[in-house]
Amino acid sequence: MSAKKIYFTPGPSQTYFTFEEHLKHAMRDQIASISHRGKEFEQVFRTASEHLREIAQLPSDYHVFFTASATEVWERSLQNCVQQSSFHLVNGSFSKRYCDISGTLGLKNHSAQAAVGSCVAVDGLSIPEEAELIAITHNETSTGATQPLSDVALLREAYPDKLIALDIVSSFPYVDVDYSQVDMAYFSVQKCFGLPAGLGVWFVNEKCIERSRALNAAGKSTGSYHSLTSLLEKSKKNQTPETPNILNIYLLGKVAGDMLEKGIAKIRQETDYKSAVLYHMLEQHENLSPFVKESQYRSKTTIVGQIDKGNQDFVDALARKGMVLGRGYGSFKSEHIRIANFPTHSKEQIESLADQLAVGS
Ligand SMILES: *Cc1c(COP(=O)(O)O)cnc(C)c1O
Repeated sequence: MSAKKIYFTPGPSQTYFTFEEHLKHAMRDQIASISHRGKEFEQVFRTASEHLREIAQLPSDYHVFFTASATEVWERSLQNCVQQSSFHLVNGSFSKRYCDISGTLGLKNHSAQAAVGSCVAVDGLSIPEEAELIAITHNETSTGATQPLSDVALLREAYPDKLIALDIVSSFPYVDVDYSQVDMAYFSVQKCFGLPAGLGVWFVNEKCIERSRALNAAGKSTGSYHSLTSLLEKSKKNQTPETPNILNIYLLGKVAGDMLEKGIAKIRQETDYKSAVLYHMLEQHENLSPFVKESQYRSKTTIVGQIDKGNQDFVDALARKGMVLGRGYGSFKSEHIRIANFPTHSKEQIESLADQLAVGS
């Protein structure tokens, strides 16, 4: 067998360092075989949900729902909370996809587009009256640009009656959201939680539930098994409408518990430190530079470096050291390297990666 690699790819990424141990326990306790209608699963659901609530410091009017992915949340959020029109801050491929899905569902999708590697300037941004929901991507994983939370606050203040959906897929639990300023937030577990893909988490407040009920009462379909009302009804019993990814919900509860024990403040501090190491390396480097030029938009959890002569030499050199870099997203495939700076990546691993890149090519 070849030596173990370390994945610095931004999702799927390196598994959380306690993943294997929890997986062993799950197998010992036959978690994959338990009924999703039994007491044992209800406890698994409760643990995951409570640990996530504690990490996020969720207000009491928020619910925690499980979906198949963040992509599913894009569709469900629009089906459940938007009658006619949504507005999207588009900073890259992921935020664009949410906007496109709105169009596919037959809604009118307005957007403001940022230059690549930047973020939409919210100052003076005019959002049409008819838009019912504002979609903001906190960390645009495709480019490494982060929309500052102060922009979320400004939008909330300017548009208090519109719903705000915040994509925290590749920044939670690093991101410290004030949930009174948004109405929903969501993530997938293969990013910062270092778990196998195929599970999304959706934080939703009462206002979204009421909106969904109102749309339903007005005759609009809000979907079937994963409508907000259906998710809510089952979650009250610590259950899900369908047979869910029980194993992953179990693992999420465990990893979230480990993170709480370590301390979210410590995870945030370490993330800041590790990102500073990586940006410092990029700024000093002869052939590499940070792709995001404006420092206020630079992501702490997905660091993107630009290489004009192509990334192959770097990718190969690092692979020989057992380190897997992310390549650029979409049209930047060969010009960028993307480095996940997630909670499982230790200071030592990031320092070692930075050293290797510094001598790399
Ligand atoms: C990965 C990612 C998604 C999509 O997640 P899936 O689990 O593939 O649905 C959405 N938004 C952002 C910012 C992402 O990084």
